[in-house]
Formats: sequence, structure tokens, C-alpha cells
Amino acid sequence: MFEYAPAPESRAIVDLRPSYGLFIDGEFVDGEDLHKTINPATEEVLAEVTWAGEADVDRAVRAARTAYEQVWGPMPGRDRAKYLFRIARLVQERSRELAVLESLDNGKPIRESRDVDLPLVAAHFFYYAGWADKLPYAGFGPDPKPLGVAAQVIPWNFPLLMLAWKIAPALAAGNTVVLKPAETTPLTALLFAEICQQADLPAGVVNIVTGAGDTGRALVEHPGVDKVAFTGSTEVGKAIARAVAGTRKKLTLELGGKAANIVYDDAPIDQAVEGIVNGIFFNQGHVCCAGSRLLVQESVAGEVLESLKRRMARLRVGDPLDKNTDVGAINSADQLARIRELSDAGSAEGAQRWSPPCELPERGFWFAPTIFTGVTQAHRVAREEIFGPVLSVLTFRTPAEAVEKANNTPYGLSAGIWTDKGSRILWTADRLRAGVVWANTFNKFDPTSPFGGYKESGYGREGGRHGLEGYLNV
Ligand code: NAD
Repeated sequence: MFEYAPAPESRAIVDLRPSYGLFIDGEFVDGEDLHKTINPATEEVLAEVTWAGEADVDRAVRAARTAYEQVWGPMPGRDRAKYLFRIARLVQERSRELAVLESLDNGKPIRESRDVDLPLVAAHFFYYAGWADKLPYAGFGPDPKPLGVAAQVIPWNFPLLMLAWKIAPALAAGNTVVLKPAETTPLTALLFAEICQQADLPAGVVNIVTGAGDTGRALVEHPGVDKVAFTGSTEVGKAIARAVAGTRKKLTLELGGKAANIVYDDAPIDQAVEGIVNGIFFNQGHVCCAGSRLLVQESVAGEVLESLKRRMARLRVGDPLDKNTDVGAINSADQLARIRELSDAGSAEGAQRWSPPCELPERGFWFAPTIFTGVTQAHRVAREEIFGPVLSVLTFRTPAEAVEKANNTPYGLSAGIWTDKGSRILWTADRLRAGVVWANTFNKFDPTSPFGGYKESGYGREGGRHGLEGYLNV
């Protein structure tokens, strides 16, 4: 086997400040409660950020209200569009800087932040910029109105992309926002705040408050917000739904998943194996719609597994800034502990665990790509979201059994189907209770396409024309 020479991306393009305040009313304001944010691949401290308290959140919500009433709400859509196009272009211009910073703060491979996250972030702003002056044609009546101030709370797995999914439609529809990034990945949101300044976005239209769960709670429970948009775990989503119940606030929830990736016996095996690998090892499996349950037809299970193991042995795990890296670092010590706990439970419950030989770096948070075979539906690794590079493999004999097993989960975010026959794709997709069903591909995202869940994966849709609805008074 040929060895690859290291191909590290330079981090010189990123100019980090030692500490960051909160972005409120167009300016960075110093805070008192500073916390370190680290590079999960090395445990090196990158910077200190402020954790916002209730008074800070209140100031941010007030700034957003004033901006909504005085500037952004009354502004014609065609002018709002100009700002969004400007932001989209600035994201493109600074995409290398943003990609390197995303990989530093999150641990994801630079190949992914550069080729997936950043192009999609820009595409979301371009796409929703296009809607800003066409809202009367979006199918929500002749003159749909914004809601007001949106409180947005996002997770750490796609920090900047989740920001784009939230901020772009909100602004296009005429709302102002207060966004809270996740505590382990605040840095690209703060760089985005600089981009808002660079774009001359009116003060208060976008406010970024960093912090952990308490900051998020203060934000979603603030009486001055009209809309809550949350992406994160089902557990926190349920708490937010309870907190918002009985208020006037409109709510969208994008929560967890445990997607089935179904491989029929007539599937092109090599392509399916690529899809399985992309489905679960992309972004270290820190993907809500990851194909974390492989359902493979019994007659081809041996062949698929053999090929999958061969492919997994070629995955390069290591330095996220190396352009050859396929699998980067786990985002935090807490997440690593959770992945370990669930994987240990898989072994203890009798499933067979396998990982390719792979040397993990000594410092930082790492977990080798892992598969469990001999998994039954009762096993925790088949039921609970692991949110890491761990695949549970189950088999089935008939299409009906595949559908039954695929739907046997409290979640319903996504699913995949691999087969040679179009009719089988349609038959299966029709019966799967999942917001997104991919056929002969996996983890494909597009700003024009709605994304969201069934059951405990949440409600509301982000992306596409549908994504505007959550930000309009309809
Ligand atoms: P999490 O729920 O712990 O945290 C998400 C965000 O909520 C963070 O910013 C956190 O600080 C904040 N938060 C925590 N407690 C809060 C509270 N009580 N009130 C308000 N905010 C609070 O989730 P996580 O571990 O950061 O992210 C992983 C989860 O996100 C996974 O379950 C994954 O499936 C899900 N996810 C879903 C989607 C989707 O589109 N459906 C996308 C990405 C991630």
C-alpha cells in the first residue's frame, strides 16, 4: 500500500484573538464569565469566550427587537436581499479561513469543512437571499409577515452550517435573530459576527451570545422572543417544547436520529459500501441524520461486510488539518465518554465489535471507526443515538421486514435505500417514516430541499421554500 505524505493545511490564515466578548447590537461587548474553548484534536486552548448570563441575553433580545421594529422589519425585501447576498459573498471570500477555524474548533477533517460545510453555508445565504423579495410567491399568501425576534440555539456538529440554516431564512423573511452556538464550538459564529460587521448589516439584526445550556435556556425562555428554533438533542428539545408551551412563541425542533441505511440484494455493492461509509463515518458520525443502522439483506450480508471492512481499513484517522484525513477528532471529552459507554454496552449485550487496526493520536479525543455485527433490535446500539463513528449492522430477509425494522425507532429523521430497481426505491420510500429518504446515495444536502423529522426527531422543516414557513406569521 502506498503511504501518503502529510499534507497539512496551514492555520496561519486564522487570526484568533485571545478572548471574545458577545456580539450584541453590532458590536463585541466584553463579558466577565470567560471559558476556554479547545481544539479537540490536541486539547490546545484556542481562545476564551464569554458565557452570557440573563442580563446579557436580555440586552441581545432588546437589541434584536429594536432592530426589527426600526430597521429590518420595515426594510423592503429587495434591500434585505442585498445584505444576504453580501454575506454569502463574504463567506465565499473568507471560506478558507472559516474552514480552517471550523476544523480547529470542531475537530472535523479540513476536506469536509472546506468541501462540504463552507460551500453549503454560502449556498444557503445565496438561496435565501433570492427569496427575500419574493415572499408573496412562496405559497404563504400574498403578503406574509415576519414573526419578529427569533431565538436560535444550535449544536456543535456543523457549527457554521447550522448557523446558516437558522440565520439565512430568518433574515430573508424579515426577522432579527439572537443565536447561541454550542459551548464547544463558538468560534466560527464569532467570526461570522465579524462578517456581519464587514457586510454593514444594520446593528442588532444578528446578535451572537455564546454560552452553555443556561444561556440557551435564558434565551428560549425570554418573554421578548417570538420564535424559537432549536437544533440539538431530543432530551433538550423536549425541555424546550415544555418551556415554550402556552406562550405565543412559534417553535421548530430539529432533534436526534437513528437512521436505517437499507441495502437490498440487488444493490451495486461497491457503491453501497461507499454510501455506508459516507453515511456513518462522515463528520465522525456526529451527524443527526447519520446512517447509523445498516440493514443489509441476509443473502448479501457476508459480501457487504467483507467489502465494508476492507474499505474501513483504508480510512485515515488523524490530524483534522491534514488534507488526506477522512476521520477527525471527536468533538469533546464528554462526547467521547458517551460513545465509549454505548459501545461498551454493545459488547456487554452480546454484539460483536470490530475496528480496523488504526493508530490513534495520544492527545485529544479519538475513537476508531467501529462496527457492531450480530445486533438485535433490542440492543442499545440499535436503539440509542451514539453520535459517533459507530455502525450497528442488522440483517433482513424480505422488503417488508426491512421496512418494519427501519421504522422500529422513536426517531424519524432520515433513511437510505440501495437497490438497482426504481420501483423498489419508491415502494420502500413510501413506507419509511423519515423526513429525508436518500436513494443510492447518502448525506446529500441542498439549500433548496426541506429537511426535518418525524416523531422524536422533531417538527418543522429547514431548507427550501418550506424553511420560510417557520419564520413567517402563517
Ligand atoms: P444538546 O441538546 O446538548 O445541545 C444543543 C444546544 O442546546 C447547545 O447549544 C446547548 O448549549 C443548548 N442547550 C443545552 N441545554 C439547553 C436548555 N436547557 N435550553 C436551551 N438550550 C440548551 O445537543 P448537542 O449534544 O450539542 O448536539 C447533538 C444533538 O443534536 C444530537 O442529538 C443530534 O442528533 C442533534 N442534531 C440534530 C440536527 C437536526 O437537524 N435534526 C442537526 C444536528 C444535530
